[in-house]
Amino acid sequence: MTASKILIVEDETPIREMIAFHLDRAGFKTLEAADCREARQLLADERPDLALIDWMLPDMSGLELTRMLKRDKENEDLAIIMLTARTGEQDKISGLEGGADDYVTKPFAPRELIARIQAVLRRSRAAGGDTVSAGCLELDTAGHRVIANGDNVKLGPTEYRLLKHLMTHAGRVYSRTQLLDRVWGANVYVEERTVDVHVRRLRKALERHGADTYIQTVRGAGYRFSVGS
Ligand code: CA
Repeated sequence: MTASKILIVEDETPIREMIAFHLDRAGFKTLEAADCREARQLLADERPDLALIDWMLPDMSGLELTRMLKRDKENEDLAIIMLTARTGEQDKISGLEGGADDYVTKPFAPRELIARIQAVLRRSRAAGGDTVSAGCLELDTAGHRVIANGDNVKLGPTEYRLLKHLMTHAGRVYSRTQLLDRVWGANVYVEERTVDVHVRRLRKALERHGADTYIQTVRGAGYRFSVGS
């Protein structure tokens, strides 16, 4: 299994670096953001498995960021652990209402944080780590890979997300604008024809497995995934 990617969102550099140091040593891949703006950029570019979000951040509170991320369909697989110096029961409740999967109070022992991260990742894998099959394709959402008749399909990260979105909503037609929102994210500004470029690449990658016809163009409407014609 590939190492889980953890995004650390904390403006206090020594704390952020201390966490990154311990997580790296525990075998995780780490990404660091000092504010919400950086965090959202890294979320879109790197698709981490879990975000550690500090409550106190300069541009927006960690709780607001968590709420925002959980509302966005793009981040539905993202697990979130909130870090906070506050110990009040009220905060704990509102943290979880905001959509955080767990809650760790500062100061904490690195070992405890790692144990909590592992527990949350195990839960989110069990919940979201499904395999979706259609035709000769198998989409392994926990392993971020696609298998065709037992062979690994080589896909770039955007092609993977595009296929994942279409395949998990098979039969539904999506316009280019909808795909930009859902696959690229609502805050990314790219032209609609970018969608066509990636659809072409995706079809090309699927072609050698005989699955390129699964990505169908619906004239004047957009694209859909369908095994039938
Ligand atoms: Ca902070």
